[in-house]
Amino acid sequence: MRKPTFSIGGVHPHDSKISRECRIEPMPLPDSAFLAVSQHIGAPAKPLVAVGDKVKVGQPIAEPGGFVSAYIHASVSGTVKSIAPRADLAGNPVMTIEIAREGDEWMEGIDQSDTLVTDIPDDNKALLEKIKLGGIVGLGGATFPTHVKLSPPPGSKCERLIINGCECEPYLTSDFRVLLEKGEQVIVGAAILKQVLGGVPCTVAIEENKPEAIAHINEVIAKLQKLSPKFNGIEVMTMKMRYPQGGEKQLIDAVMHRQVGSGALPISVGAVVQNVGTALAVYDMVQKNKPLIDNTVTVTGECFPHQANLLVRVGTPLRSILEHLGGIPEEAVKVISGGPMMGKAVANLDAATLKGTGALLLLTEKQTARKEEGPCIRCGKCAEACPMGLEPFLLQKLSRNGDVEALEANAAQDCIECGCCLYSCPANIPLLDIIRLGKADAMKAIRDRAAKK
Ligand code: SF4
Ligand code: SF4
Repeated sequence: MRKPTFSIGGVHPHDSKISRECRIEPMPLPDSAFLAVSQHIGAPAKPLVAVGDKVKVGQPIAEPGGFVSAYIHASVSGTVKSIAPRADLAGNPVMTIEIAREGDEWMEGIDQSDTLVTDIPDDNKALLEKIKLGGIVGLGGATFPTHVKLSPPPGSKCERLIINGCECEPYLTSDFRVLLEKGEQVIVGAAILKQVLGGVPCTVAIEENKPEAIAHINEVIAKLQKLSPKFNGIEVMTMKMRYPQGGEKQLIDAVMHRQVGSGALPISVGAVVQNVGTALAVYDMVQKNKPLIDNTVTVTGECFPHQANLLVRVGTPLRSILEHLGGIPEEAVKVISGGPMMGKAVANLDAATLKGTGALLLLTEKQTARKEEGPCIRCGKCAEACPMGLEPFLLQKLSRNGDVEALEANAAQDCIECGCCLYSCPANIPLLDIIRLGKADAMKAIRDRAAKK
């Protein structure tokens, strides 16, 4: 039988999941944690602590700065050393709370045991509030505050929850390891999300290149369904391996055969998509009182001798992660935060991990060498590959010309920055880099217009 997938575009890069056998190991605690107040989509969080304050692990140190925003919690215990701008991975200053670590003292009430808690409380309002208090954001890359996503606007209704376990980007294996090693917790988290959304059916979407995870999650669901009807209505769907299968709009298309319109949210077609890491974070907060203070990070690359999936406290400097694994090999000339298709080059290794940091990928000169750019030969391969139905050759031209009006008219703002166009272009035109700039201009024009209304 043909496996479900999205209907237009996409590419088939080699999956390069060389860290797939690496079990999740805890990363040693950093000497200091650096917690940016902007590490989610929406307004920056507002600090709740002052320099000199003592904090414990799990203590809220910044509160939401608006409706779309999230709490930030201390990921280490110690003393607040500074609250000041600090360079992020691109070198841009971001307000950051620095905690000099002393020991590892946790807030009272956080259950650090491995005991699985399967009884889900009935009060949905309390569950939603708890998810908000846990500072949980989407861990699939978008970092959209989860409690906001779980509160459909008036007039819209969720019909299906999709748990995104596709991890379609090459090299990344953290979601795969979470599914294998924390599958029970993920499914309890999924059941909590499902209940908050009104008991809708839930699809756990996993790509076909992860058969162990598919088999394990099927077993977990069957086991949990024997314990409580709250686990009924959860099923695994085996997805075709195709990039970007895990893109939100692509996944909804594949699972529900519905198209999310330009500028619209998934809820407009009755869908809510949450990543497996987010489902785990929801479990941790609701069942164990543990806010989002750590995340699984894949550290990988052919030139890197110490492949790993590490459980890293949020705010850990990237340099210390790489040093823990033996340092950066000489052949590595580039570090990417994320995967090779959508990740961002790290310009500053002293930057710290964010809630949404899922991977560090090390690449060699050969892997990063840009082939000489040629003229567009109008082959149309970029448009064929675009999963959003855009015309990348046109967008890059408009972007180079700074024609913001035409960029918007040609939906540059819908670009999901998947890189399929770049991957497919025989003329080696850096389409994604150029379109990204044009998209930013189009989005700014849209925002400015909305602000004037
Ligand atoms: S990066 Fe943007 S324009 Fe290029 S294929 Fe992806 S969605 Fe289309
Ligand atoms: S794939 Fe490259 S060469 Fe072909 S039409 Fe697109 S931009 Fe031009």
